[in-house]
Amino acid sequence: MALLLVLALLFLGLGLFFLARRQRKISGLPEGEIIYTDAGDWRRNERPLFSNRYRLTGKPDYLVRQGGEIIPVEVKSTRLNGRPPYPSHTMQLAAYCLLVEDVLDVRPAYGILKYADATIRIAYTDALREEVLGALAAMRRAQGASDIPRSHEDAVRCRFCGYQRICDQALKT
Ligand code: SF4
Repeated sequence: MALLLVLALLFLGLGLFFLARRQRKISGLPEGEIIYTDAGDWRRNERPLFSNRYRLTGKPDYLVRQGGEIIPVEVKSTRLNGRPPYPSHTMQLAAYCLLVEDVLDVRPAYGILKYADATIRIAYTDALREEVLGALAAMRRAQGASDIPRSHEDAVRCRFCGYQRICDQALKT
């Protein structure tokens, strides 16, 4: 009887293990322990990461611990249809890498952008780090300006921008 119980528990454990692996594969998340999530349907929201040094705050959808690494994951509902990731999404992910580096004291080697039809690994290189620091500096300079010109001609970017309704420079598609 005891042996049957042990076997039943073993099969149950194996079943749960493979179910969890399958769900993670479907979600596009990397292997590793999920230590934080802001995706709502997984666990309750956690506090945003806040960097005093860079005067920056943000909430990645997931932070995944992989050995000594912490990998930020940002989930987008849009489809890429074979296109490269949007530069604004890459910058957002790079900002999360910077936050992880400063707040959690672990520099991620990469972050992940998870789209509806693709999962893209973005290397957090020195060049990308410099780019995000440059963008932050430019944003701070722009905060003091009264009139900020649009920096692109991408109507799709405007369509998905959270400021489209109030922006007087939004491009129409
Ligand atoms: S809507 Fe305005 S703020 Fe948003 S991307 Fe377009 S120009 Fe930039």
